Amino acid sequence: MRTFIALELPDGFAADVAALARQLSAEVEGRFMRRESYHLTLAFLGDVDEAELASAIAAIEDTCPSCSPVPLRADGLGKFGRSSDATLWLGIAPNPELDDLVYPLRDALVDRGVDFDEKTFKAHITLARRAKLPSGSLPPLEFPRDDSATCITVFKSTLEKDGAVYKPLFRYDLEAHRALPL
Ligand code: ATP
Ligand code: MG
Repeated sequence: MRTFIALELPDGFAADVAALARQLSAEVEGRFMRRESYHLTLAFLGDVDEAELASAIAAIEDTCPSCSPVPLRADGLGKFGRSSDATLWLGIAPNPELDDLVYPLRDALVDRGVDFDEKTFKAHITLARRAKLPSGSLPPLEFPRDDSATCITVFKSTLEKDGAVYKPLFRYDLEAHRALPL
């Protein structure tokens, strides 16, 4: 199964991201993500079997007891790829809590022999795919209010015709420091 590890967004922050995406969709053509799909990817594992999934969960349980909720502060829009066919995202400002989560987690995955995409980490929330970005400037936009993320989740991703569908397989609460029911 195709999997990744991500932070979930609290409802208020997700609502603000959705409002921002709505403003953008007036100016930008593209396949905008469903609000319930918003997330911040920490590690993309790709295809794993049950044993690797168990190891990934163990890596989270190794790492997260000493981690804290992660501040979420939007720091601008960005893109991967060409302007005519871009992945459009909202950047999240780096912060110590995020660094103290993502790098130890990636180390724990390595220690447990779980492969993941090792591209340099860039904290972002994907807003749209196949976006055609205008050459001029965008109108003034209202960015999300600062918040913090408390839930780290292993998602299963099923690729469907009109975009991926994500299903949580394991959740851990960075505040209560325990696994959460699904
Ligand atoms: P689609 O591929 O249909 O556009 P998607 O990219 O949302 O949908 P996935 O490809 O399963 O769904 O990706 C899940 C998450 O992992 C997304 O946040 C995606 O940006 C990220 N991701 C996907 N592939 C990689 C990769 N090779 N390296 C790092 N992150 C990745
Ligand atoms: Mg993809």
